[in-house]
Amino acid sequence: MKDIIKAYRYRVYPNKVQRECLESFFGAKRHIYNYFLALNKELLNNKEYKLNYKAESALLTALKKELSWLSQADKFSLQNAIKDQDKAFTHFFQKRSGFPRFKNKKDSYQSYRTNFTNGNIEIKENKIKLPKIGWVRCVKSREPLGKILNVTVSQMNEKYYISIACETQIEPKSMPIQSIGIDLGLTSLMVTQTDQGEIDDIANPKWLEKSLKNLKRKQKQLSKKQHSRTKGDTTPKSKSYLKQQKIVAKIYEKVANQRKDFLHQLSTMIVSENQAIGIEDLHVKGLMKNHKLSRHIAQSGWRMFREMLEYKAEWHNRTLKVHDRFYPSSRLCTCGVVNKELVLSDRIWICKACGSIHQRDELAANNLIPVEQGEFTPRECALSGAEEVSNA
Ligand SMILES: [Zn+2]
Repeated sequence: MKDIIKAYRYRVYPNKVQRECLESFFGAKRHIYNYFLALNKELLNNKEYKLNYKAESALLTALKKELSWLSQADKFSLQNAIKDQDKAFTHFFQKRSGFPRFKNKKDSYQSYRTNFTNGNIEIKENKIKLPKIGWVRCVKSREPLGKILNVTVSQMNEKYYISIACETQIEPKSMPIQSIGIDLGLTSLMVTQTDQGEIDDIANPKWLEKSLKNLKRKQKQLSKKQHSRTKGDTTPKSKSYLKQQKIVAKIYEKVANQRKDFLHQLSTMIVSENQAIGIEDLHVKGLMKNHKLSRHIAQSGWRMFREMLEYKAEWHNRTLKVHDRFYPSSRLCTCGVVNKELVLSDRIWICKACGSIHQRDELAANNLIPVEQGEFTPRECALSGAEEVSNA
């Protein structure tokens, strides 16, 4: 048995007083998050170090004395806001995401996270007790299992949700012998190849594609409605723009949920069937020349997928190998030579050294399959347009 943390998400229906209370909690969390983000941003701009959690925590205590309204908020939510802000910086330093972004009152997603201590959170039939909020009506699809660690309360498009993180135990799945490499496809969603030679070209399921198309269409309609188009433009957003904006937000939420479901199915399947999994630490930014929105979807999708693989691999004792972004996965021939001339539009290429013909995504997936003997590292070579690689 293995200890894991599992999250359960339910919709909740706070009453009017509770909604006002949540509104102020979201506000306090935003205030603290943005306050420390601005502070750390300034420190970094001045070539100084970012504050650590201990220093930030001491500063928070001082802030609460100064601004009494902060003390009315859930106390854990403020500490967690600092931790989340720290995490955003960590991800930025690790080049896993861009520079942390300020939270805005107008963002369609608002949230705060509170921690479990001394029975401050309770679940009874169709109700959940939240600190300083009281009992809130909720709809549970299944009972949460294990010990409650924390609860994230969120609001999205005028709906409220809670996500309960519980510590529970699972039986790791039995160990398969197969290994797999996963390449984020340029035309399809991803291409996988196992060390048994099995290639799979994975596309988005039809139901997800349909929603994506619908989203694009509604987004296009939105862009045609009256709104400011450049930074200095003072054109107000028309009523029909605002109405359409709500429609787009709803479809966006649906797409996000559908995609998450699909990535869950996919990551569970991959982890079940393989003992070692290789992926690339991709900067999708440079890859996608699509519309801004679809790029955002692809980017956050890949990040989410990687996170799912990370924790599911951990649950079931699998190995996840993340190749750095300089690893020439789509350019490395099986003969050990790297094709330096390969450009993004080349779908198929022929190795100048050995004559092998490669389908780009399939080759990349093959090169990403984890190997036990260590990695190939490129070495200079006299071959024109190619670079020889030796087993280091
Ligand atoms: Zn070759």
